[in-house]
Amino acid sequence: MKKRVLVTGAGGFIGHYLVKFLKERGYWVRGVDIKHPEYEATFADEFFLLDLRKFDNCLTSMIDIDHVYALAADMGGMGYIETHKGEIIKNNTLINMHTIEAARLHNVDRYFYTSSACVYPGYKQNITDIAPLKEEDAYPADPEDGYGWEKLYIERVCRHYHEDFGLNARIVRFHNIFGPLGTYDGGREKSPAAICRKIALAASDDEIEVWGDGEQTRSYCYIDDCVDGIYRLMQSDFSEPLNLGQDRMITINELVDIVAKIANKTISKRYDLTQPQGVRGRNSDNTLLRKTLKWEPTVSLEEGLEKTYHWICEELANAGRIPKL
Ligand code: NAD
Repeated sequence: MKKRVLVTGAGGFIGHYLVKFLKERGYWVRGVDIKHPEYEATFADEFFLLDLRKFDNCLTSMIDIDHVYALAADMGGMGYIETHKGEIIKNNTLINMHTIEAARLHNVDRYFYTSSACVYPGYKQNITDIAPLKEEDAYPADPEDGYGWEKLYIERVCRHYHEDFGLNARIVRFHNIFGPLGTYDGGREKSPAAICRKIALAASDDEIEVWGDGEQTRSYCYIDDCVDGIYRLMQSDFSEPLNLGQDRMITINELVDIVAKIANKTISKRYDLTQPQGVRGRNSDNTLLRKTLKWEPTVSLEEGLEKTYHWICEELANAGRIPKL
C-alpha cells in the first residue's frame, strides 16, 4: 500500500520541491501551509491551508498519515531573521511543538525535522580561521539568536520524544539551500537569490549593493540535492542531527563574481557595512553525511546558480521589471 505522507510548509520553497519528489516516487502526499506555493501549482494529492501554530490544525493534518516531513517555519534571509526574533521564536516554537505532539498522538511511523546550520555556535564562526562545522560542534551551545535557538531546542525535543515516547525522528541541518522557485524579493530572500536579482536588474558596468564587506563566507547547496538528501536520510535509521549542504566555502564577493559571469555583465560592488551579515564564516563538514548516507550533494554551485539566475530573470521579465529576452 502507498505510504501516506504529510509535508508541512508545502507552500514554501523546499516543501514544494519535496512534495513533487515524493509524488514521483509513488507516495500519497498531503501538503499543509498557510499559503499556496507562490510560483507553480502544488503536486500534492491534498493541500490544506492551515495555521500550524494552532494545535487543532496539527491534529487535523495528521489524520491517516504514516510519515511527517516538518518544514513549516517562519523564516527568511539574514535581513528578516535578525530583525524578527520574538515573532520567529514564538511562531516556530508553537508550530513545531504542536506538530510533533500531534504526530506522537497519531502514532506516525517516521518524523522528519528540518533544522539549520544556524544552530552552530557563534564562537566557531566569528573567527578568521573557519573550520567546517561537524555535527558535534553544536555544543556548548551559542546558536544564532532567535531562529537558531528555536531550531536547537526542537532538535532536543525530537531526541526526547524519541527516547521517552519512541517517536522515530530524523533531524537534518540544512546549509543554505537555493534554486529556482525560491523567494527572490521582498525581504525574506537569501543571499544567492538576492544577488541574482540585483545583477539581473543591473546594467553591465553597474554597481550593486553588497551587505557587509563581502568577505563573509558560506557554502550553498542546490535544491535537487537537498530533496534527494532529505529522502535518503528519512530512509536511513540515523536519528541524530546530520548536516546537509555543500562543503565548498566561498565569499559573498566570489558569489557576486560567479553570478556576474553567468549574466555576462561587469559588476562592481558597493559595500553597506550597516546591514546584517550573520556569522563571519560557515561551512559544512560532510564527513558524517558521507559515512551515514554513502552520498553527498553533487550539483555544482555554478550549475545551480545558472539555473537560478535564469529563472529569476524570467520572473522579472514577466513582471515587466526587465525587458523580455
Ligand atoms: P520557506 O519559508 O520557503 O517555507 C516555509 C513555509 O512554512 C512557508 O511556505 C510558510 O508559509 C510556512 N509557514 C509559516 N508559518 C506557518 C504556519 N503558522 N502554519 C503553516 N505553515 C506555515 O522556507 P524553506 O526554505 O522552504 O525552509 C523549509 C524548512 O527548512 C524550514 O523549517 C527552514 O527553517 C529550514 N531551513 C531552510 C534553509 C534554507 O536554506 N532554505 C536553511 C536551514 C533551514
